[in-house]
Amino acid sequence: MHKDLSHPARATRLVSAGRPTEPGSALNVPLVPASNFIIGGKHEYARDDGTPTWEALEEIVGGLESGQAVAFASGMAAIAAVFDQLHTGSVVALPDDCYQGVAGLAAAGAERGRWRVQRIAVDDTAGWIAACATADLVWLESPSNPLLTVADLQAICAAPRKAGTFVAVDSTLATPLNQRPLEMGASVSIQSATKFIGGHSDLLAGVASTQHETLLKALRHARELMGATPGTLEAFLAVRGVRTLALRLERAQQSAMTLAERLVQHPQVTRVRYPGLPSHPTHAVARRVLAGFGTLISFDLRGDAALADRSCRNTRIIHHATSFGAVESTMERRAAVPGQGHLPPTLLRLSVGIEDVEDLWRDLDQAIRAAAG
Ligand SMILES: *Cc1c(COP(=O)(O)O)cnc(C)c1O
Repeated sequence: MHKDLSHPARATRLVSAGRPTEPGSALNVPLVPASNFIIGGKHEYARDDGTPTWEALEEIVGGLESGQAVAFASGMAAIAAVFDQLHTGSVVALPDDCYQGVAGLAAAGAERGRWRVQRIAVDDTAGWIAACATADLVWLESPSNPLLTVADLQAICAAPRKAGTFVAVDSTLATPLNQRPLEMGASVSIQSATKFIGGHSDLLAGVASTQHETLLKALRHARELMGATPGTLEAFLAVRGVRTLALRLERAQQSAMTLAERLVQHPQVTRVRYPGLPSHPTHAVARRVLAGFGTLISFDLRGDAALADRSCRNTRIIHHATSFGAVESTMERRAAVPGQGHLPPTLLRLSVGIEDVEDLWRDLDQAIRAAAG
């Protein structure tokens, strides 16, 4: 049904993949709201066999990730399906800085005696290499959220592993355009499609991609048994959204670099974390591992949490909202998020969207200055 897209440039693949090709078909994959199909074809029951709409999303993201993809109801559903592969008594290596949902999932399983969790600093490459030889699941998130530390995936994914160990990379912050963990040797790459793939803050979805046939089957089986299937409308919107990923990312990360450089000079800002800045602790690794430095900036303000909260409320263009990876810019104080109290109290995480960069800078500057009063 779909054209052979083995080698075109990724920006082209984004636009061309996952489309019907029969004469007379619509150019876009249709929204197929189906649980049930006539027996004898490729699909019989959607939770078991998928739908054409999910498959378009899987074809696009799998192609970008250099693997085969399984779409889920959310990023967390994809992540839970990977954790579900573990046998009781397993050891999970987890970053010291990672998405709070993943830390919560790992902690809940540890509490019930399903596995033990070992925390490793994102930039402790030797620690991760050692974990590859001892842990059953090596869970990396890079760049990390919200400190934006970049792990040396080239070194870690190539390290010798204990038999049966999975190396999983939550690559959501990088997008499949800036980082391809499977090409570096990871067992599975995760995208919360809620973020950059959807790109418009209007859906929840997740995608896990792998090059291993057995793991692919196991992830599909987990989706079937746990029922964490993507919504049809969400899959359709994710396909619609991902078509412009290359353009959105290029624009937003160019603006992010400009804003990060200006924030460094701002009198009310004490520290800026952006992997593109030479001052960033893992800038050298970022240059090697990532094709682009991304659209998130974390920065600390001079003053207290109340001042940082006021800065978020003072913005007129940037939305005071969580999440990231959308066309609209958002900003929040991360230590205010449950489970994130260990972060610097004035750390703001800014997700740079595709608005005009000078408008964004004026908005940020006035918001911070007004808060400092
Ligand atoms: C948002 C996010 C998730 C969870 O994705 P959902 O789609 O919200 O379930 C996982 N990992 C990272 C890095 C995220 O940013």
